Amino acid sequence: MLKLFIALLFSVAAYSGVVQEQLFVTDSSFLKLASERVELTIDHVSQDGFELYGPKGTKKWLEQIGVDHRVIEHTHHHNKSRSKYPTYEEITSSLKALAKLYPHIMSLESIGKSVEGRELWMVKISDNVKKDETEPEFKYISSMHGNEITGRELTQFFIKDLLEGYGNNSRITWLIDNTELFIMPSMNPDGSKRKRRGNANWVDLNRNFPDWTKGEANTWNKRQPETVAVMKLHRKRQFALSANFHGGAVVVNYPWDSTYDRHPVDALVKELSLRYSKENYPMYTSNRFEDGVTNGADWYKLHGGMQDWSYFWHNDLQVTVELSAKKWPHYSSIPSFYKDNKESMLVFAESIHQGAGFKLKDSAEGKVKITKLSPDTKSLGSFGFSSGEFYKVLEPGKYRFDVSAGGEKHSFETQVEFELNKENGNYTKL
Ligand SMILES: [Zn+2]
Repeated sequence: MLKLFIALLFSVAAYSGVVQEQLFVTDSSFLKLASERVELTIDHVSQDGFELYGPKGTKKWLEQIGVDHRVIEHTHHHNKSRSKYPTYEEITSSLKALAKLYPHIMSLESIGKSVEGRELWMVKISDNVKKDETEPEFKYISSMHGNEITGRELTQFFIKDLLEGYGNNSRITWLIDNTELFIMPSMNPDGSKRKRRGNANWVDLNRNFPDWTKGEANTWNKRQPETVAVMKLHRKRQFALSANFHGGAVVVNYPWDSTYDRHPVDALVKELSLRYSKENYPMYTSNRFEDGVTNGADWYKLHGGMQDWSYFWHNDLQVTVELSAKKWPHYSSIPSFYKDNKESMLVFAESIHQGAGFKLKDSAEGKVKITKLSPDTKSLGSFGFSSGEFYKVLEPGKYRFDVSAGGEKHSFETQVEFELNKENGNYTKL
């Protein structure tokens, strides 16, 4: 009988990733069935139940099939704390002012427009910022879920600290001199304006990326403009390490999300996640997640997420950081969240230097086969590259790179160490 109702209620595909209603389901036995429905989106599974998002009619349907649930209230719009969060317009002018103040190390670019035409601002911080140098490329993106606001503020605090620290703080100066850092405080400004998860089309952007486990190609046909903007950015750049910020829990979630298989660099990505959590006391001492980290699918499976997509298609190792149990905390608590995360954000960004790469004389496309030689021997597989540049975050050890591009072959061996600190990254010029 239950199954019959489920089969009858929605015409499935058209509603995939649509998040018009937000509910909290307290009946955990419903999780398995819910996760099989593509028109439903599950988030933040806990002992008490899980968040369930779906198209209009989802609540009515839960009532009909007798599943215990409650509505997740939107925070009251007259709540005074809300007005203290900067608006999109205020954030825009503050970022523009910073770019003017620090033109030698910060540039501001819009990588596209939201559904409603808001600019999707991407900050780049590096020495010689106007030049595309051969340096490892790191990235933070926040608030692809518009109502998960904490990271939008913390990334702005982090941008300011980097800019002000340049020339004053040796770690920050070194990082900026030797890295290209990209920081996007808001991937979903329309959703944040409405204080909701989805974008202006009600679509969950973290279910909107191509999913290879379902055989989807890496194409942006019919995807949301915010998703397409990030996809296009990845075609232009060579990100090697990233994190994206969310809210609703306090934990670092590492790939994969979409399969129970272990990630090809499972030990490394867990180690990098721990580096983040260890510097964040409330996260590391979590009584819900051991040491404040979790494998994505072990927590709950999801499809179409950004982190699985970025590694599978673009060799960009990415984790999802859940920053605050409350998705939209009182604005006055933001400095305290920043205090908990500041060192983590810095350490995680520095970690990109634990890796190796190469630069060809021309901007050729090609393939590279990577073999670990010691302390253990294993093949890491083959990776594509464009623009004659490739960089990969790796476990410490000795590696061989076999590069083929435009009919030419190059081989070299290189050492990766925990603390590398090689100028402009550990690149071999070929
Ligand atoms: Zn989220």
